[in-house]
Amino acid sequence: MGPPGVGKGTQARMLCKHLKVPHVSTGDILREAVHEASGLGRKVKPFLDCGSLVPDDMMGELVQDRLSRADARGGFILDGFPRTVAQVTILDGVLGQLGVALDRVFALEAPEHEIVRRLSGRRVCPQCGALYHLDSRQPRAAGVCDGCGSALVQRPDDEEAVVRRRLAVYREQTLPVIQAYRDRGLLWEADGTGDAERVFETLKKRGLGEA
Ligand code: AMP
Repeated sequence: MGPPGVGKGTQARMLCKHLKVPHVSTGDILREAVHEASGLGRKVKPFLDCGSLVPDDMMGELVQDRLSRADARGGFILDGFPRTVAQVTILDGVLGQLGVALDRVFALEAPEHEIVRRLSGRRVCPQCGALYHLDSRQPRAAGVCDGCGSALVQRPDDEEAVVRRRLAVYREQTLPVIQAYRDRGLLWEADGTGDAERVFETLKKRGLGEA
């Protein structure tokens, strides 16, 4: 968990590789649906474009479906879900049906000005999904993907006004979720700023208790 742009996707992917479990990112699933213009994609696109949350009932169905697949039987990392207090209850129900419990909830933090800087400078390759940054991870040729040569774009929800809206939604809807997991004693919190490798080392040592 953590605000948009804190690096939860990066940490989640590293954690999945390390633990050999699938990465269940609701944001990625929704963006893929929008990209394919599927029925789901057409329904959720307006929410993603303006930075507001997709309704809880739609998210519940999506997560239930994904976590019921065979590859999730040995565990999974959820990234971007649950994001509302109602989704916590939905997740409790899905996990109850599957007969599994959450082991741990990781929360990363970063100051808002850092988040706005990170996200509004982010560029993505629409073909292969590679990520770049105008300050810290520039492509070799400006505006062109190093890997596949496609023109880089800005995700509509990375525009500054939308980032600020996503942050407001996070404060209002998702901070209470973090509190709920803190109350359950499942939460582990860390600073998400700085080098991704270093954040991951801390997460492994202190969050997973590995030597
Ligand atoms: P993310 O990449 O996790 O920041 O998600 C991108 C967008 O997908 C969000 O701004 C929401 O519009 C939508 N989304 C992702 N996960 C959820 C969720 N758990 N509940 C509602 N909307 C979500």
